[in-house]
Amino acid sequence: MKMVILDGYTLNPGDLSWEGLERMGTLTVYDRTPSDRVMERIGDAKIIFTNKVPITAETFDKTNIIYVGVLATGYDIVDVEAAKEKGIPVTNIPTYATNSVAQMVFAHLLEICHHVYSHNESVKEGTWTKNHDWCFWNYPLIELAGKTMGVIGYGRIGQTVGRIAQAFGMKVIAYDSYHDRNLERETMRYAELDELFKESDVISLHCPLLDDTKGIINKSSIGKMKNGVIIINTSRGSLIVEEDLADALNIGKVYAAGIDVVSIEPIAANNPLLQAKNIFITPHIAWAPIESRARLLEMAINNLAAFLKGSPINVVNKIV
Ligand code: NAD
Repeated sequence: MKMVILDGYTLNPGDLSWEGLERMGTLTVYDRTPSDRVMERIGDAKIIFTNKVPITAETFDKTNIIYVGVLATGYDIVDVEAAKEKGIPVTNIPTYATNSVAQMVFAHLLEICHHVYSHNESVKEGTWTKNHDWCFWNYPLIELAGKTMGVIGYGRIGQTVGRIAQAFGMKVIAYDSYHDRNLERETMRYAELDELFKESDVISLHCPLLDDTKGIINKSSIGKMKNGVIIINTSRGSLIVEEDLADALNIGKVYAAGIDVVSIEPIAANNPLLQAKNIFITPHIAWAPIESRARLLEMAINNLAAFLKGSPINVVNKIV
């Protein structure tokens, strides 16, 4: 059976093996596929994998696809309803990067608290050697213990972030449409959104991008926050109105931000966040430690194996 991976490079730039999939059919892997070459590259293949290449209703009409494996959690790039009408299951990878995304939150937060990168540069440039005192620092240094972390979206990643924050001695307040009372304790409680905005020293976003969460961080919500709040976003770029965050950083209302995702990726040259003060931007890499990517690939293989055995798992467009 012919199988095509349309954009395999970000999942496996060469440090993982496609062998598990190769054992299941004749596999062709493209690093990336422009949208005008999707049809040609799929050809007569029946099994398709995509990470970010859109698969449209027209693709289903004009090819022999019987299965689409999305190599990510989010599957909005596939017209899942069109696939369903044709009886084609689309699968995703529901969870593979919980720990690495939570870890990235603290990579950003600790950088903001200690500026390790910049202090290292400064030392190597000779600033310490020439210094009058036995130590120096170029930025305010921040201790997290005793501060309040507001987590918007207290699901898998949000809860992991909450646990780590508590281990740092922080208090956690969480906003979520679903409350798990078992998680509440002296250092963790649920709160309404406005209370979270008002009380948090650090706000970390972990809700999905939906109509009611799009732009949840905007001029008005920032206005309700503490002066000098820190904002971390590893979820989806469009949760933030980027112009509003840039303005708030530039006037110091928001002290700093750590951002792994932006509204348009790759980031546009005119994204206002690129020029904003005290912001750290990483290129959507929270998911990408090799351990997480290996887990993702293994789950993609298991998804396909289950489909070929006739009992598909992780199907996002359940076909009854
Ligand atoms: P999850 O489904 O376990 O948790 C999401 C939580 O958000 C749930 O508890 C849900 O009840 C809550 N929620 C839903 N609607 C809400 C609303 N309107 N307001 C507040 N809370 C709401 O998902 P997860 O595995 O924790 O992933 C969270 C997000 O992380 C994903 O949506 C994805 O965008 C992002 N993500 C980013 C990366 C990366 O590399 N940067 C990798 C994986 C996931």
